[in-house]
Amino acid sequence: MPNDTAGVTVTGFKAEVERRGRFRLSDCYQCGKCSAGCPMADYMDYLPHQIVRMCQLGEDSLREKVLRSRTIWLCVSCETCSTRCPKDFNIAHLMDVLREMSLKEGMQHPDSANIIAFHKTFKNSIERTGRLNEFPLAVGYKLRSFDLFSDVMKFPKMLTAGKLRFIPHKIKGMDSIKRIFERCEARTKMKKRGKK
Ligand code: SF4
Ligand code: SF4
Repeated sequence: MPNDTAGVTVTGFKAEVERRGRFRLSDCYQCGKCSAGCPMADYMDYLPHQIVRMCQLGEDSLREKVLRSRTIWLCVSCETCSTRCPKDFNIAHLMDVLREMSLKEGMQHPDSANIIAFHKTFKNSIERTGRLNEFPLAVGYKLRSFDLFSDVMKFPKMLTAGKLRFIPHKIKGMDSIKRIFERCEARTKMKKRGKK
């Protein structure tokens, strides 16, 4: 079980987040520099340092607020917060951990549907071709998000500018990409088995 900086045993939500993220939440001393620099802060329901604080407190009611928050889905993983943090606390990674937990427990914020659709399409493109191919990415996202026509007028302009390739282009090192995905899958299976 994880210990905090004072050697006290940590349990519950806080311990779960620390175990998954392999960091100490108590490293954050709530200076707020992360939130001051976050480009998405204006659209979030809780600021990044508030998310850290709720995880530090670790109460069950806060667990639900965090995992159901819009903030964790609006984070674009730009790492500005982690770069600005005087304590080197990796908030971008914390957001990853919380997104994973939220998804696993079916607690994702309703506004996250299109974001999740984009994540899945992005991942599929990398898995199949090793890179982002704009045309399949756009089509995949549109189908997943049921938003077929909103950007249709941009299509001819992008086509004439050579921004859309109909045939996806594969990178040379596809073996390495395949191995990365296999290892991730094996790790996920191992984690699931460990839970049983
Ligand atoms: S910048 Fe670092 S120490 Fe300051 S509130 Fe954010 S995470 Fe905590
Ligand atoms: S990584 Fe996320 S929380 Fe951090 S500054 Fe970027 S958008 Fe904000």
